[in-house]
Amino acid sequence: MSWIIALAIGATFAIVSGQMARARNRNVALWTVLGFVTGFLAIIVLAVLGKAETHVAAASADNRTQSEYGRDGILSVRDVSVVFGGIVALNGVSFDMKKGQILGLIGPNGAGKTTLFNCLSRLYQPSKGEILMEGRSILTRQPSQIAETGIGRTFQNVALFPRLSVRDNIRIGGHCRTNSDFVSDSLKLPWVRREERQLNEKVDEILSYLDLHNVADREVAGLPFGTQKRVELGRALAAEPKILLLDEPAGGLNHEEVYVLGDLICRIRDERNITVLLVEHHMGLVMKIADHVVALNFGKKLAEGTPAAVQSDPDVIKAYLGDKHS
Ligand code: ATP
Repeated sequence: MSWIIALAIGATFAIVSGQMARARNRNVALWTVLGFVTGFLAIIVLAVLGKAETHVAAASADNRTQSEYGRDGILSVRDVSVVFGGIVALNGVSFDMKKGQILGLIGPNGAGKTTLFNCLSRLYQPSKGEILMEGRSILTRQPSQIAETGIGRTFQNVALFPRLSVRDNIRIGGHCRTNSDFVSDSLKLPWVRREERQLNEKVDEILSYLDLHNVADREVAGLPFGTQKRVELGRALAAEPKILLLDEPAGGLNHEEVYVLGDLICRIRDERNITVLLVEHHMGLVMKIADHVVALNFGKKLAEGTPAAVQSDPDVIKAYLGDKHS
């Protein structure tokens, strides 16, 4: 199929140059052949150049990463503010995350957790402040480039393609790590087929890792909510994130499922070396698995520290339970 497109473009060039040769009394056969070869080769060269450029960009990004970011830090939120009309959703929030950390972001309803999350995944643009991923600003990146920087996320109310299978939903997550483009994909060049093979292997591995192989070919729409949440996690993992943003992963899960989820998040951190930022109302889960907790209230940072320290902080108790309990 792909070669047909190259042949069609070659044939178009052949017809055009043949007609031009006839109009100018030149050798029609020679110019037809030349036109065909030019059209055909142009497509191949474009595909190869596109691939080479992507490789050079990736290699130079890797070099910068290695030379500049051998340190512990991975994500830095600096003095971030977000204003919606008259509502100050975030007001000068700052904190840092270390590699390999599970950071719990907590706060009562309306505290600004999801707003901060949406800034980290570039859905919102802060009105002030800076967000650095491995020392580089993410605010200059397009939302479509955020997965490439190593930031993956799940959504509070799962955002999957309901009519696609579990396997295809996860495969979509892996596409940001492939280099193919329209031309090379159409031509199904050898490296494109190799990449597809690797992507399929990766998806199979994630299906097993998340215990989803039994439903791999089922449509997502008919699956229980807990399973859909795992599919979303799978999609995020397929993008090979360095940091995973989980927006209320325990929401809608029963007690047993929350327990299993806690273990899974710790395994993801330990076995896949992924740093985790967890927004969660389920205090039991946060206190059990987080190494560090940041508490927000009315868009401001209220407290930060170990789970035990934050849990016993009078300002945090007051924010959750009111003045009488502080
Ligand atoms: P919850 O735990 O209930 O999800 P949250 O801590 O995630 O709350 P946010 O959703 O970030 O809080 O909301 C922070 C504040 O910003 C709230 O007052 C909310 O009403 C407001 N807000 C959030 N998104 C928007 C928006 N798109 N437009 C206007 N106001 C918004």
